[in-house]
Amino acid sequence: MDYVKRFQVKPGDKVNLKEIDASFRDRHKSHEHALAEIEVYNNKLRKLQYLLYAENKHSLLICLQGRDAAGKDGTINHVLATLNPQGCTVNGFKVPSTEEAAHDFLWRYHKAAPARGQVAIFNRSHYEDVLVVRVHDLVPKEVWSKRYDQINDFEKILHGNGTHILKFYLHIDADEQLKRFKKRIDDPRRQWKISESDYTERHYWDDYTRAFESAMEKCSTKQAPWFIIPANYKWFRNLAISRIIVETLDSLHMKMPDPTVDIKEIRKKYHEIRKKEGGGRPEKGN
Ligand code: ADP
Repeated sequence: MDYVKRFQVKPGDKVNLKEIDASFRDRHKSHEHALAEIEVYNNKLRKLQYLLYAENKHSLLICLQGRDAAGKDGTINHVLATLNPQGCTVNGFKVPSTEEAAHDFLWRYHKAAPARGQVAIFNRSHYEDVLVVRVHDLVPKEVWSKRYDQINDFEKILHGNGTHILKFYLHIDADEQLKRFKKRIDDPRRQWKISESDYTERHYWDDYTRAFESAMEKCSTKQAPWFIIPANYKWFRNLAISRIIVETLDSLHMKMPDPTVDIKEIRKKYHEIRKKEGGGRPEKGN
């Protein structure tokens, strides 16, 4: 079964995160065991991004959401390492600035949406406005509850203009989060990542669960599906996300654009120049 089907929240489905195994790793026993497959998908991803860039018809928006320490940064590192940075942008969304807060909530996200031929990665996204905002009552319920429809309309507009949207919820369980917090405390190279809010937000675990479930139930659509990615194993998370991006880009049946010049004529000119310049250097090597 392809991973798009396997991990997608089908439009209209109920989501119960407690029932989903965050340690799932398909048929792979270990990272080493999965290495060959990871390499295959990374290579495919690289080629498909080149095609996306060359064809210049579609764009791709990847939204990453998850609890603290779920691995949003790690995923970006992995996906980006595969992509050509010329065709890719990354945007992280934090507490809105004064200017951002003075606009409608979608303004800052729309500005960062990908241009044709480009991939944009959102580290946190417009869903924060129905997640942290809902959990902490940052605006009244009558305001945030309307945002699900507004988000669906926004994503429909993007999709109608050639942007393919993939939204990934990185699913870790409470034990794994605590393990990762401990690692941050013990490893001086990770201590800078610790924030007070990681610990305070953990008290709201169940509220976040409900908020994530609502967002995925109300906003997983054909044009902008949500995927629940088992993320206790970082390498499986990376593999699953690469596979889903590859399967999605593959389904677009992109083609190399035709050359904008007459190749026969250009080849003739090239040979004329070589002849005139006395053959130049040998064609190969050197
Ligand atoms: P990271 O994304 O690496 O965790 P921070 O530790 O700076 O970065 O966290 C960013 C914070 O900004 C998070 O607590 C997140 O919930 C908050 N945030 C993002 N978008 C919004 C928003 N629209 N309204 C309020 N807070 C937001």
